Amino acid sequence: TQTLIEISLRDQFPGMEGGWHYLDTAATAQKPRAVIDATVNALGRDYATVHRGVYARSAEMTLAFEAARRRVAGFLGGREEEIVFVRGATEAINLVANTWGAQTLKAGDRILLSTLEHHSNIVPWQLLRDRTGVEIDVCPLTDDGRIDLEAAERMLTPAHKLVAFAHVSNVLGSVLDVEHAARLAHNVGAKLLIDGCQAAPRIRLDVAALGCDFYTFSAHKLYGPTGVGALWVRSEILDAMPPWHGGGSMIDRVTFEKTTWAPAPQRFEAGTPAIAEVIGLAAAIDWLEDVGLDLAEAHERALATKLREELSRRNDVTVFGPAHSAGIVSFALDGVHPHDLGTILDEEGVAIRAGHHCAQPLMDHLGVPATARASFGLYNDESDIEALLKGIERTRRIFG
Ligand code: PMP
Repeated sequence: TQTLIEISLRDQFPGMEGGWHYLDTAATAQKPRAVIDATVNALGRDYATVHRGVYARSAEMTLAFEAARRRVAGFLGGREEEIVFVRGATEAINLVANTWGAQTLKAGDRILLSTLEHHSNIVPWQLLRDRTGVEIDVCPLTDDGRIDLEAAERMLTPAHKLVAFAHVSNVLGSVLDVEHAARLAHNVGAKLLIDGCQAAPRIRLDVAALGCDFYTFSAHKLYGPTGVGALWVRSEILDAMPPWHGGGSMIDRVTFEKTTWAPAPQRFEAGTPAIAEVIGLAAAIDWLEDVGLDLAEAHERALATKLREELSRRNDVTVFGPAHSAGIVSFALDGVHPHDLGTILDEEGVAIRAGHHCAQPLMDHLGVPATARASFGLYNDESDIEALLKGIERTRRIFG
């Protein structure tokens, strides 16, 4: 594959030492030393609280923390006052459901999800449905496993107030045409929420150009720390959203009779935030942008395409999902449960994911209880594919 880029970033990742073949970046990415160092310094040398201290160290940490917000805004193409720090995409979607959703949606309103959504973009809406009586519709997939936007167009009605889709499927790697989805949603007056967990590390983003209304991702899949993520909300919407979690930092004035709220985004950040993790997230964005999102996308696409080609050569392997996948390939080896395959591969130093990938409705659609999934990061190269193929061959010999 002449498009495969010869970059070796592996040496920058302590988590890649020992020569193992880590193919589970869709679950969580390994961290480059730059991110680890930035996080450790924020917890050590530079550590202090934010937004409160009158002493210099705290003021400096506050500057760094708010600089990180600008960094995330720049990365997404939004404005800093539109960025809410959250624990991750799961919390972000729950936040939207519990604030914008609870305020805006009424019984009889409809939400459009898709068959390939992660549970974190299904269950918060079901919880909201149980409270409000909104209805959930499910957009089907094309034969090759992309969200079928022609079907979405036919399904959408003025009763739809929200469309919530994954930008990139964590199981199939299929990429959504977000601009198209935004036009369809807006045509019926619905908002568009995009779960960008798998897209943010792999695709150059610009929420203004994409035209969505909510966008979220988790730092830990973007080479950053766990426990932090970002939610971008178009400011007209964010400014009108009521708070969710109450506590310190999210208030303007508290009395026992009445409490008033801080403006967005502080209104949505109750309590002491994940200070060091936010600093680590900014470092991860610096690192990823230094590598270059175009290069990241090309690299992962090339590896995914190569793996699909190699797997398709075998007559005992089913490969799921579209030919063009953003760095994620799900497959099944005939007669072998994905967990058994994963266990044997582990003996070979190859780490894949086997399971339902928090996408049980998609498993039902594919007619399997689980898949084996290989997902790439910027530290992977063809040697990881070779090791995986060798492990599949050994599994075949063991299972016959
Ligand atoms: N959406 C997608 C597409 C994901 O891949 C994941 C993580 N597997 C999530 C949402 C949830 O992210 P987190 O667990 O970091 O909140």
